[in-house]
Amino acid sequence: MAVACIGLGANTGNRQANLRLALQGITRMARVQAVSSLYETDPEAATPQPPYYNAVCRIETGLQPRSLLRFLKGLEHEIGRRPGGERWGPRPIDLDVLLYADAVVESDELTVPHPRLAERAFVLVPLAEIAPGLRHPVLGKTIAALRRAAGAAGVRKIAPPGWDGVAGAEDEPVRL
Ligand code: ADP
Ligand code: MG
Repeated sequence: MAVACIGLGANTGNRQANLRLALQGITRMARVQAVSSLYETDPEAATPQPPYYNAVCRIETGLQPRSLLRFLKGLEHEIGRRPGGERWGPRPIDLDVLLYADAVVESDELTVPHPRLAERAFVLVPLAEIAPGLRHPVLGKTIAALRRAAGAAGVRKIAPPGWDGVAGAEDEPVRL
């Protein structure tokens, strides 16, 4: 079993419901240990698009990184995301493998840690809530340190852990 962190984002449809569906789906393949607060964040794409809802969860999984990514892509499809469309364009759900234990993976299909993790406040702010002490295996810095460096511009908290009935705090049972 390995501990991994998954980033969840949505900026079309019922964004909160899409994130909740994704969390429910993840419980089919992993034990969800913690879920962050819910945030609304400004999109970073050059073309105008609606703001995102973002959250992060920490899981314990028996899947290897590539299998985990494929499972998450299947889940994106279930929730209504279809391939094609503009890169970083609007989507009902985006599920990214942010960290997978101390693994460093670099293939066409998968890069872990997520390549833009260290620059994205919308990932680091929620991630620092549930995994501040985890160390980025390439940069050698903790998530807390990366989050301090990134700031929190464009990241607004919508709801504390427990949003939408999804319990999140450490050692609290995660109800979905
Ligand atoms: P982004 O998440 O950067 O906005 P997409 O969701 O469209 O972009 O992902 C594009 C591709 O990135 C996916 O098809 C996937 O194979 C690849 N990818 C590489 N590393 C990762 C990762 N750590 N998590 C999720 N997808 C990844
Ligand atoms: Mg993605």
